[in-house]
Amino acid sequence: MEIPYKIYLEENEMPKYWYNMRADMKNKPAPLLNPGTHKPVTFDELSHVFCDELVKQELDDTTAFFEIPEEIRSFYRMYRPAPLVRAYCLEKKLGTPAKIYYKFEGNNTSGSHKLNSAIAQAYYAKEQGLKGVTTETGAGQWGTALSMACAYFGLDCKVYMVKVSYEQKPFRREVMRTYGATVTPSPSMETEVGRRILKKHPGTTGSLGCAISEAVEKATTSKGYRYVLGSVLNQVLLHQSVIGLETKAALDKYNIKPDIIIGCAGGGSNLGGLISPFMGEKLRGESDVRIIAIEPASCPSFTRGTFAYDFCDTGMMTPLAKMYTLGSDFIPSPNHAGGLRYHGMSSTLSQLYHDGYMEATCVNQTDVFKAAEYFARIEGILPAPESSHAIYAAIEEAKKCKESGEEKTIVFGLTGTGYFDMVAYEKFHDGKMDDNVPSDEELKKYADMLPKVE
Ligand SMILES: *Cc1c(COP(=O)(O)O)cnc(C)c1O
Repeated sequence: MEIPYKIYLEENEMPKYWYNMRADMKNKPAPLLNPGTHKPVTFDELSHVFCDELVKQELDDTTAFFEIPEEIRSFYRMYRPAPLVRAYCLEKKLGTPAKIYYKFEGNNTSGSHKLNSAIAQAYYAKEQGLKGVTTETGAGQWGTALSMACAYFGLDCKVYMVKVSYEQKPFRREVMRTYGATVTPSPSMETEVGRRILKKHPGTTGSLGCAISEAVEKATTSKGYRYVLGSVLNQVLLHQSVIGLETKAALDKYNIKPDIIIGCAGGGSNLGGLISPFMGEKLRGESDVRIIAIEPASCPSFTRGTFAYDFCDTGMMTPLAKMYTLGSDFIPSPNHAGGLRYHGMSSTLSQLYHDGYMEATCVNQTDVFKAAEYFARIEGILPAPESSHAIYAAIEEAKKCKESGEEKTIVFGLTGTGYFDMVAYEKFHDGKMDDNVPSDEELKKYADMLPKVE
């Protein structure tokens, strides 16, 4: 069967259209529900929170291709196509017959793939004539990406940054301020919900879920503002499909078919983007590529979570999404330095995982940092801890190939660089990093608190 999106490529492998893999899913991801009525949320309800065009993208599970506006494509051209690199040195060092490729998304100032969606969301906010946007950021990559995008379009940008990261990563904060964003540690006393959370959990180091609640409240109570989110949502996976479309175009050029695709999974956006055209083929019965999500053992939503409706935030203000979740009150141990701290998972990826189209495993953070350091010394790039989850899994798969003698082709997403994660690297080097794995009792406590939806 002809690959439909080939005709949609620019000369340099960059896509002219985003690809929406929901269009090829027989079992569509469950709709977002209004938390009060438990009815599917409407365009009108969502458009109080998000930009209109983004709501349309969010709710559309039948249109396969969305044209990328020329202004966004011209921004993409500043740092894309992102390199797809054959990890020859790593292969050699491992003595594996496997061929290892990584798609490197760290080649922009924000240092990660998040800019791909940030620029799209800022564009639609500008088109709608808004003054600005609010958001949360965990490790800081999303906030950085969004502040760059907002600076480009002259939009105001208000970022709630998870407190533990705000304190551990002062330089991230300063990068955001350099691009003109206002950065507030979350939970804060600035919002109703922040004050409520601080009262209930004094001394909390914050979580993405909390910061989302604050950013949503700020957006919905400020005129001319909307809220934007850097992961989890369908619209974000759609924008991130540029990663996978470029990867596929580059592989196709050399007639390479991947056997295994690996990506780290926080909220699922880089993984969803990387796999999208490959998953499309798999959904249409044209390929049986293995797809592996890899997540931290300290925040194991796929591997130990429940597939159920849950809030996307701690303050229980957002719509309910059906996803693999640890519960919206779950907060990973403050010792966890490896990112990917979100309690839930993209509802699209959750459905695909539930239906057996992909696998998931989890890994301890000390093993992640070992893999990170190993990779840095061999391939030169200093990886983000998040990305290093995927590195770990790619190495494991390559080692299996060594044992079996199979020449598999492994592609993984190297989502970003780790220059702002040196406090975590320092802990690792000083032997002060430990592995915090939540107990079954702890997870059950949060699972029991999931909203009851029939
Ligand atoms: C945010 C981030 C991730 C995880 O987010 P996803 O939405 O799961 O992709 C992974 N790697 C880096 C470098 C990030 O900044």
